Amino acid sequence: MANCIFCRIVQGEIPCAKIMEDEHCLSFLDIGPINAGHALVIPKKHYPTLFEVPDEDLAACATMARAVGKAVLKVVGAAGLNFLQNNFRAAGQLVEHAHFHLIPRHENDGFLTSWPGKAYAVGEMEKLLQKVHAQLQA
Ligand code: 5GP
Ligand code: ZN
Repeated sequence: MANCIFCRIVQGEIPCAKIMEDEHCLSFLDIGPINAGHALVIPKKHYPTLFEVPDEDLAACATMARAVGKAVLKVVGAAGLNFLQNNFRAAGQLVEHAHFHLIPRHENDGFLTSWPGKAYAVGEMEKLLQKVHAQLQA
């Protein structure tokens, strides 16, 4: 994908602060960190969202994310770490090349630690569950 910023990073056309790479994926520091040490893990091939990433690449990214997350957590002395992934604009995806965020967190760093939940109406959860089961078999 010639106009994809992450493909260009993979190709070496745009520099990055590389943390590590293997045949499937690449990890580098995010250029606009939420907290210092914020890192990304991306599959080297262009997949727009999580839903196109093949099992092998996904497994490799998850394994790399675990290693990078553990290292970053220690290096920046974080108290926690969010492993996040956004799909489509409505969920905050700006770069349309699947990627995983590793965001070091500190006590009282001013960011959300949980999103507000709400209750289902009576029977709503069961109906939804049936639809999801049906969709998984479609
Ligand atoms: P999204 O909102 O799509 O989940 O996150 C995209 C992330 O990519 C953002 O956190 C943004 O700072 C990061 N990013 C965008 N362009 C570049 C770049 O050229 N280099 C690096 N290292 N990170 C980038
Ligand atoms: Zn791409």
